[in-house]
Amino acid sequence: MNKNFDVIVLGLGAHGSSAIFHLSKNNLKVCGIDRFTPPHVFGSSHGQSRIIRQAYHESPMYVPLVKKAYKLWDELEQISGKQLLLKTSGIILGDNAGAMIVKGAILSAETHNVPYEYLHSNEIKERFPALKPTEDTVAVVEQSAGILFPEECIKTNLHLAANNGAELLYNEVVMSIVSTNDTIEIVTDKDSYQTKKLIVSAGAWLNDLLPELHLPVNIKRQVLFWFKNTSEELQQFISADKLPIYIWEYTHGRIFYGFPDLGNGIKIAPHHEGQPLHPDLLSKEVSEEEINQMKNIIDEYFNVNTVFNYSDVCMYTNTPDEHFIIDHHPSNNNIIIASPCSGHGFKFSSAIGKILSDMATGKALDFDISPFSIKRFMIK
Ligand SMILES: Cc1cc2nc3c(=O)[nH]c(=O)nc-3n(C[C@H](O)[C@H](O)[C@H](O)COP(=O)(O)OP(=O)(O)OC[C@H]3O[C@@H](n4cnc5c(N)ncnc54)[C@H](O)[C@@H]3O)c2cc1C
Repeated sequence: MNKNFDVIVLGLGAHGSSAIFHLSKNNLKVCGIDRFTPPHVFGSSHGQSRIIRQAYHESPMYVPLVKKAYKLWDELEQISGKQLLLKTSGIILGDNAGAMIVKGAILSAETHNVPYEYLHSNEIKERFPALKPTEDTVAVVEQSAGILFPEECIKTNLHLAANNGAELLYNEVVMSIVSTNDTIEIVTDKDSYQTKKLIVSAGAWLNDLLPELHLPVNIKRQVLFWFKNTSEELQQFISADKLPIYIWEYTHGRIFYGFPDLGNGIKIAPHHEGQPLHPDLLSKEVSEEEINQMKNIIDEYFNVNTVFNYSDVCMYTNTPDEHFIIDHHPSNNNIIIASPCSGHGFKFSSAIGKILSDMATGKALDFDISPFSIKRFMIK
């Protein structure tokens, strides 16, 4: 194998697999490297489902990006013949009309003409009998929301990239990045490679690979739970055609979210409440106490009778403002850094992979990435 490349993508999860797919469409020598065999269960992109939505409570600036992402997911489905996205509609609930996520969803929807409905407690109960809102609960319902199948998305990107001639190296750990003015050397536990451009999309391991930047990202353990319904009569209300994806700010600043029953039960998880950890120390152990806490939430906010089915553990890579990092390395323009996580990055990966590919190949970008600049974290 010739070990000189035009572009190497370091990390082939959500964003890296999409980047290498887009790169592989150019007439370039491209290589992707991953420490595991993606899709795998050791990073941030596993667990069967990810939410995609447009009434984006985090900020209206994401709406054009998610619109682009929908188009590219659709294109990927057309090219591959695989189903990657299931539209279920989505409901954003708050414990009152002032709830942050409800106000944020409305702001994004109105700024970017995303059709939505505003429901009060009685209307929520009538439309979605599985939900048990309090009297003061209000909701925004968006028809375009749905579920992405993350493992299938990553597999599809990598399969197409390999078919287009990309070199994919699995179970190979990048140990260091040595860069000079015009070339970058990637040293792994097996070999070393030269490249003109490098995309670092290493998820939770970003700081291990670029320690000189001291990026203020913190890694948090996030548990996902599946609860199986035990009542035949109630089952009809939790299937994907009856229960939308849901995000619920049940008390000020505390959020849980989840998915209808796709066969293994209702999926539910707390948003942003995990413990900090180093990614090499991720354990899949989930305590009885964690299961009971989630069961209490299910019992309080859903009209279902459930038993715990199983859990999985994943990681968020959070920035202080919970917006992404997509930028060139401050002292080497040939290195591109992508950390689009903070618990909400998957839906954009079809579009962000294209942006990363365009950055590496010097093409004009069709999205302003300045809000994702590294400089916002540099001491002025
Ligand atoms: C529990 C959970 C729920 C989420 N829910 C949603 C949701 O509903 N909707 C949404 O849009 N987003 C969601 N997100 C966020 C989304 O999943 C992440 O933004 C996205 O998965 C991040 O992708 P990534 O490519 O940055 O990281 P990853 O997919 O983790 O990829 C990083 C890759 O780099 C590789 N790597 C790291 N270091 C090295 C090395 N030294 N050498 C070689 N390879 C290396 C890893 O093996 C890994 O494959 C959720 C995240 C979690 C954890």
